Amino acid sequence: MSHVFHRNPKMDLPTAVGGQGMELIDSNGKRYIDASGGAAVSSLGHGHPRVIKAIQDQVAQLAYAHTSFFTTQVSEDLADLLAAAAPGDLNHVYFVSGGSEAVEAALKLARQYFVEIGQPQRRHMIARRQSYHGNTLGALAIGGNAWRREPFLPLLVQAHHVSPCFAYRERLDGETDSAYAQRLADELEAKILELGPDTVAAFVAETVVGATAGAVPPVADYFKRIRAVCDKYGVLLILDEVMSGMGRTGYLFACEEDGVVPDLVTIAKGLGGGYQPIGATLCTDRIYDAIVGGSGFFQHGHTYIGHATACAAALAVQQTIVDDGLLDNVRARGEQLRGELRAALGDHPNVGDIRGRGLFVGVELVADRATKATLDPARKTHAKFKARAKDNGLLLYPMGGTVDGVRGDHVLLAPPFIASPADIGRIVDRFAQTLNDVLPR
Ligand code: PMP
Repeated sequence: MSHVFHRNPKMDLPTAVGGQGMELIDSNGKRYIDASGGAAVSSLGHGHPRVIKAIQDQVAQLAYAHTSFFTTQVSEDLADLLAAAAPGDLNHVYFVSGGSEAVEAALKLARQYFVEIGQPQRRHMIARRQSYHGNTLGALAIGGNAWRREPFLPLLVQAHHVSPCFAYRERLDGETDSAYAQRLADELEAKILELGPDTVAAFVAETVVGATAGAVPPVADYFKRIRAVCDKYGVLLILDEVMSGMGRTGYLFACEEDGVVPDLVTIAKGLGGGYQPIGATLCTDRIYDAIVGGSGFFQHGHTYIGHATACAAALAVQQTIVDDGLLDNVRARGEQLRGELRAALGDHPNVGDIRGRGLFVGVELVADRATKATLDPARKTHAKFKARAKDNGLLLYPMGGTVDGVRGDHVLLAPPFIASPADIGRIVDRFAQTLNDVLPR
């Protein structure tokens, strides 16, 4: 009989008892290389002494103080660090407990901004198919993952969807990056015009798509063109970097590489690196000033916003990334990972695409490389891949299905930023072994 509801009773899960660096250890003493950081969470790996000490010191001094009574130095310091690192004037940081909460805050900030500036008719949110923004009702409403949404459809606010930027599957034959980016920007513009430009509040997108497609970066200039369309119609741009942010792509904010500044950006997973549950939504001066200069405060809040211990963990994680020069390592090891995966399995008949940025890497599995036909979903290749990799001592984050939002099977790799060249080599060896176990040539 199960008491822990989140545990899938059909799965015989091992009990995790320890974590050291790149590895997790179960109660049988088996060690697994954590090549996905859970779901792209564990940016510093496990058992990091500096983070442990920061948490211990904070708990001993002050674990928690409610934000309606006090601020804390550690939340102020973390906000300063993030605001200084964020591009443009994303200067205002609203702390929450995770990714879905960060997305909810972004949607509500966008809405309240328009109420404050006297445009209450702006209510529509446009997002993309093949996207995931979280499991709370607002985040689920904008997400493009049909099977997650299905049972809850009557409860979801209406959102609108346009095409994702997914060059491997959706760029036309012979279409240049530039023409593809423009076609997608035109599609967004057409959607805004269809809804009525003065009724659209925001466009939401993952900077690099994570869970629903496996580390899909946009083509060059995609976000610049999207930004231009948003600006033309006064629509806010919300970038969801819950998975891709906080160094995962080799940049603290993934959008830096795209040369755009969103109006709002969400972060979570890598912010606390798994040491504490924490997320945040950053907004620009314009949004902050409209709200604080208008009704005075953002009508929102959760009990654990700005939790001191969570902030202490996140501050230590982020300071370590800077002090240890880990963004350079993310970029170098990411190149190595993609290069070695291509060398080891780039000619495998079921490997359609190897892609990503930094240590955010996706391998798309196909039935046929030439036609890009997906594997039969009934085979549940992604689930077999996950289980077999685990047998082989490797933790990966595969996903699959054919419903709108997730087509075919892919495997996401997101190893900790501390990975050494030898760690990457071991990951590639075990990945290749798993591929040949699940899909023998
Ligand atoms: N946005 C994105 C892009 C995500 O990948 C996720 C989690 N996979 C979320 C939002 C939701 O985050 P959480 O699970 O922490 O609520």
